[in-house]
Amino acid sequence: LAGSHHSSPQVCLKIEALTKQFGEFTALKTIDLEIFEGEFVCFLGPSGCGKTTLLRAIAGLEMQSSGRIFQMDKEISTLPPQKRDFGIVFQSYALFPNLTIADNIAYGLKSQGYCKTRIRERVQELLTLIGLEGSDAKYPAQLSGGQQQRVALARALATEPGLLLLDEPLSALDARVRLHLRQQIKSLQQALGVTTVMVTHDQEEALTMADRIVVMNHGVIEQIGTPKEIYRHPVNAFVAGFVGSMNLLPVEVASASGVLLGIQHLPCLPHEINNGDSACLGIRPEEVVLTEQDDASGSLEARVVHVEYLGSFMRVTCDLLMQEQQVVVDLQHTDAERMNIAVGRDVFLQLPQCYCRIFEQQ
Ligand code: ATP
Repeated sequence: LAGSHHSSPQVCLKIEALTKQFGEFTALKTIDLEIFEGEFVCFLGPSGCGKTTLLRAIAGLEMQSSGRIFQMDKEISTLPPQKRDFGIVFQSYALFPNLTIADNIAYGLKSQGYCKTRIRERVQELLTLIGLEGSDAKYPAQLSGGQQQRVALARALATEPGLLLLDEPLSALDARVRLHLRQQIKSLQQALGVTTVMVTHDQEEALTMADRIVVMNHGVIEQIGTPKEIYRHPVNAFVAGFVGSMNLLPVEVASASGVLLGIQHLPCLPHEINNGDSACLGIRPEEVVLTEQDDASGSLEARVVHVEYLGSFMRVTCDLLMQEQQVVVDLQHTDAERMNIAVGRDVFLQLPQCYCRIFEQQ
């Protein structure tokens, strides 16, 4: 592959000013998005935010009201689903109950006119890929939910589509199977290098599986970024509150270098927000420093009101004494034990400036 193109990844899917109306209701408002070849992208957002509608528009299962969609530079906006190049897996496995596993997987291959020998080979390859060798002659009802979803995945990948679309593929499965299949799908996707778009409302799923996450709310994209960018640098209070746990404290912008939390001045950089404006300070539970003594200026006096054991750490909820606010803090067990943390204990909290994010009020 000599040439000058190797540095910039190729755009596999491009969505331009896409909108979708259902009667009076706007489900998608001007969506612009580029997805690169080989990427695993998650659409993440609360119920009703439009993520499934966007996925269905990409598949041609839903016709957009305006805007355009391109796949590998070819406009596909008005093509019917069968003329688009994708494989899809739905939440409900949607296998044909009266066909064997082999015939389910072979379904797309047959309609594309592959010869019998090639179909047989390809079905065996795919069964190996999903770890279900020897299940050819079984029927879907003889498999577990997780196994059926792996067959649905094999069926979607059979014809080597340029794009894999996953519509909440794990949400019907129980927690243990879901964790296992999450890893399987991810490693399969990496091994095959197939560009993948997955819809999910599960932030942990998005954080662990995606190369980039598209956070949606009310039909708009709030932020696009790597899991780390979304987690560490959410662009607004919605993303901050939706992904991970974030303390969101109402503050007033006092100067270019600080905010007021009640009467307490906290140093931070409230960027484009005007003095006197209400804003929102975001800090994650693991970023708050809890101490026994008031050993730093600007510490907040607080009282422990709730303690939760969460396996590897403890989540401690504190009431601030100077204002009616709660702050959640995550502590290592060793630290919690050393300080004898329990409900009713008076403590001090520091909000390190480097972790204080200031958002506009929503
Ligand atoms: P969920 O996780 O609940 O599926 P979602 O983010 O995938 O949520 P969509 O299914 O895309 O949301 O729906 C977005 C909005 O569009 C919702 O308010 C939904 O009620 C509405 N909607 C979806 N399909 C239709 C339809 N065929 N007719 C009318 N309204 C629809």
